[in-house]
Amino acid sequence: MEEVVVTKEEKEVVSKNFIERIIEEDLATGRFDHVQTRFPPEPNGYLHIGHAKSILLNSGLANQYGGKFNLRFDDTNPTKEKIEFVESIKKDVAWLGADWEDRLFFASDYFEEMYQCAVKLIKKGKAFVCDLTADEIKEYRGTWDEPGKESPYRNRSVEENLQLFEDMRAGKFANGEKVLRAKIDMASSNINMRDPVIYRVAHMAHHNTGDKWCIYPMYDFAHPIEDAIEHITHSICTLEFEDHRPLYDWVVQECEFEMPPKQIEFAKLYLRNVVTGKRYIKKLVETGIVDGWDDPRLVSISGLRRRGYTPESIKMFVELAGVSKSQSACDMPMLEYCIREDLKAKAPRWMAIVKPVKLIVDNYPEGQVEYLEVANNPENPEMGSRMVPFAKELYIEQEDFMEVPIKKYFRMFPGNEVRLMGAYFVTCTGIDKDEEGNITAIHCTYDPETRGGNCVTRKVKGTIHWVAAPTAIEATCRLYENIIDEEKGVYNEEDGSLNLNPNSLTTLEDCKLEPAFKDAKAFDRFQFVRNGFFCVDCNDSTEERLVFNRIVSLKSSFKMPQ
Ligand code: ATP
Ligand code: MG
Repeated sequence: MEEVVVTKEEKEVVSKNFIERIIEEDLATGRFDHVQTRFPPEPNGYLHIGHAKSILLNSGLANQYGGKFNLRFDDTNPTKEKIEFVESIKKDVAWLGADWEDRLFFASDYFEEMYQCAVKLIKKGKAFVCDLTADEIKEYRGTWDEPGKESPYRNRSVEENLQLFEDMRAGKFANGEKVLRAKIDMASSNINMRDPVIYRVAHMAHHNTGDKWCIYPMYDFAHPIEDAIEHITHSICTLEFEDHRPLYDWVVQECEFEMPPKQIEFAKLYLRNVVTGKRYIKKLVETGIVDGWDDPRLVSISGLRRRGYTPESIKMFVELAGVSKSQSACDMPMLEYCIREDLKAKAPRWMAIVKPVKLIVDNYPEGQVEYLEVANNPENPEMGSRMVPFAKELYIEQEDFMEVPIKKYFRMFPGNEVRLMGAYFVTCTGIDKDEEGNITAIHCTYDPETRGGNCVTRKVKGTIHWVAAPTAIEATCRLYENIIDEEKGVYNEEDGSLNLNPNSLTTLEDCKLEPAFKDAKAFDRFQFVRNGFFCVDCNDSTEERLVFNRIVSLKSSFKMPQ
């Protein structure tokens, strides 16, 4: 077989995504002499994992090409926007590591320039004030296979239009009474080009400009102007704006901006069986189904952060998902894979019992506590070791004991010998039960010759973790499942409601931790041996009582694509 040799350079070219190729071509042909990107959120909710993709893509491209990245609030719609959202978005973008330096902008700061652009269009005969109602405008617009009909107000004189637009600004008209429309082409095959509305009257206070304005620009008019003012080169947005691109280009051209920005569309990030859309997350928050925008069951950035995800893991996920023009969905296990990969060598691997049962070592001296040296993370020797106390009374996981073992169960059952991780071999000798038949304690004997969990003369099949009772720290652990019932899918087909999983949160109040955990603080992440990765909750954990969120279990169903 003929061997194909791919040089390093060729490999790099092949692995470039389509946006990188466009940027490189634009730099090579001189279409642009720099790269300037932006992330333009509307401050009407918290950010989610989909936004993380846009943030990392935009800031990543700026970094890669020695360019700049702006954070710009697209706050041209005063109804739904709030300062709370502005603050949360800034925090999330910064946490992801996207650096806007001193370039934090608000579209509303450009209202005057936008107004002047509209005046310019009127003067060029490219915009007109229209008195049709919203319903009439819709009716006149036509359909995909039927051209639209021109507005009877389309041929107003420039002077009349200038006067009326000024009157709109001066508050002489009620909401909906008049609009300003671009004069383009009612017969265009692209409905967006059929004299789109570019300004509307809305007597509403704005969170940034207060009562200064009673007319507000429409998104399709405002966005290209915002980009042009900031000298954005590549205005990256999601696919639903593809049909709006001709209008984007029309606006920057007719407003006569130099070096007009270029709009590039990519496919949104979707997670299968996960509530992603801002609208639906908002609904979960507002109906109290979750406890706020940062509920660890949400894929809001603040929810992921509180759950224990790292910016690195989200970055890795977004990179694995890739950038493309075709719509596709990712699975949650891929995100879980990324956090496991990120934490496996970084997080201390310590012992914690989430559902405890007492284990009494009958032949161990009463009152004695000895310290055993255990590695902090067997995969990362640099993390060193710690001294773990061992005593007569211990805790083990309930599920590590079976009174009557099932087939292939190698953990603790009467008569069986197992290894207590890093400590001793122990043999189960019996159990105590209360009047109702519940197991209250398990008894065993230990072999002092097996200290450290090593033995040359015999082997055991099971190794379990444990925590010494006298020095145990009490803690709360929360285990999570998808908030959606995966069997049924996200949306109820009948009424569009969400199919909720009633078991999405399990709170375990009786967890026992080894004393190494005593200084754990908010956002510290650990691997609880055999139980998964956990993070100290930033809202509910106190000095008196640690509260942990399980980030992810240890089992993975994700296979890295080759
Ligand atoms: P949602 O779709 O959740 O309602 P949105 O599009 O209304 O979000 P914006 O604040 O308008 O939210 O979005 C800011 C930026 O984030 C836009 O450039 C948008 O294209 C991008 N974005 C939003 N959702 C996704 C997603 N799922 N994947 C990638 N980028 C996204
Ligand atoms: Mg939007």
